[in-house]
Amino acid sequence: MRKWICLLLACLLLPLPVRGADPELSVIAPAEPLIPWETALIRYTLPEAGTVQLTLTDGEGREIMPVARDVQGVAGKNTLFWNGTWERESAPAGVWRLRLDAGDAHAETEIVIAGEAPAVAARPAESLEPLRLSFTPATTSPWNGRDASLNYWTLPMDIHEEERIWQVLTAPITVINIGKNSTEKTQVTIRKEPSADSEGVGVVTCETQGVHVLERGEEWSLIECYSSSFHDSKILNWNVLVQGYIPTKYLKEEIPNQEMGMVIDKLTQRLYLFREGRLYSTLLVSTGLSNKRQPYNETRSGEFLLTSKVGDFKSDNLTCAKAIRFNDGDLLHEVPYVLAADGVSRIYDTCEPKLGTKASHGCIRVQRKKTPEGVNMYWIWDSLKKNSKTRLLIWEDWQGRQIEIPAEDTPLYWSAREGTYYHSAEQCSGVKEGLVLARFPYGELETGAYAKLKPCPYCAPVLRRAEIEEINAKYAFGGDHDPVLTEARKSCPRPLK
Ligand SMILES: [Zn+2]
Repeated sequence: MRKWICLLLACLLLPLPVRGADPELSVIAPAEPLIPWETALIRYTLPEAGTVQLTLTDGEGREIMPVARDVQGVAGKNTLFWNGTWERESAPAGVWRLRLDAGDAHAETEIVIAGEAPAVAARPAESLEPLRLSFTPATTSPWNGRDASLNYWTLPMDIHEEERIWQVLTAPITVINIGKNSTEKTQVTIRKEPSADSEGVGVVTCETQGVHVLERGEEWSLIECYSSSFHDSKILNWNVLVQGYIPTKYLKEEIPNQEMGMVIDKLTQRLYLFREGRLYSTLLVSTGLSNKRQPYNETRSGEFLLTSKVGDFKSDNLTCAKAIRFNDGDLLHEVPYVLAADGVSRIYDTCEPKLGTKASHGCIRVQRKKTPEGVNMYWIWDSLKKNSKTRLLIWEDWQGRQIEIPAEDTPLYWSAREGTYYHSAEQCSGVKEGLVLARFPYGELETGAYAKLKPCPYCAPVLRRAEIEEINAKYAFGGDHDPVLTEARKSCPRPLK
């Protein structure tokens, strides 16, 4: 366990390069008091690349605790995560200084360490689990201000946070309204400086895409969002979190659907449907899969409103049924099918087995098989009005995020008689009527007859431990789960030629 934590801590200290260079040496502490064992972001700026040391000191320059040792920083802005501990010791509560040393130069700032969270302090040291990082959609934001409100941008990407997710799903959302009708497929350029002549850093889609207002000015406001760049957008910047200016008069608040909302997690490839305050049903999806030629296939993250019900449309030989628009060319629709030679039968074999993994050109493909709660894409279509303004939160699969490994006693279900699938629910729509499912714990899934079972395509059960570990290794901090997209982003942002 000790090794585990050391390894994780080492991972946490890898620097993340952030866009936009600033020549002065500086360090910024977390805005909130840092609670030991909870992860917080430290930002620092270097005039040139080099090795840095971060130290917690008292007012007189005496060392209280190392924060990070021999970290490689890039020229410009850097971020690193710290959990308020060193070699398993918590930093003492108090108002201290955070000192950054880079070569002969140093910078420092105030940092507040809070007492340990009661739940953490009460746990015996031996049972301390590996750290779980708390990521938000704005995790790599270089904005140095503070947003103390709860919204999409400050909400931790943790599906267990049902209450807070519901608050965010139903709160007002700020969208772009340019004062014209039918602008769902119109985009506005986000400018580097508050001026119409300033270069573009990204684009935002009108009416449906939510923006994080950082600084509201009279004429121009500083906002952030993921750039909704498609192949034909004016600024090409593939799903990059950008900050920049748009005219303040374009900002408009909308009240979303108060009965229903959805979270799409690009890491787990699942749609979490929330209804009347709680997580109601979990469905398998496929979001976009980028490639060298089409980096814009990656589904753009952010918060959106579901608006126009487009209906069925064809894409090559695939038919996508029940499509609802949420971001320009990105729609939520049923997993596509191919029409059989008889012109009537639908063949789902091409796309359906890929649900639960990235596969689309940017749209979100939703399962057609009914969950135990009876939900599928047809159900969603039927439940939503024409312009329902249902909020959709799309969580970015930030490098460093990890899928939680289920507890050993998590209940699963199967039938020895049917013997093909393991299920997440005792009553599954995919099970023949009259067939009774027996319960067994997740901890036994790799043993005996359970080892051969496949995950049921109806009830979206948890993945096997080895599968989760494989995904987690790909997403481990400091790695790169999508080098093709990383390469494509090197030439961004750039204007469309
Ligand atoms: Zn099932």
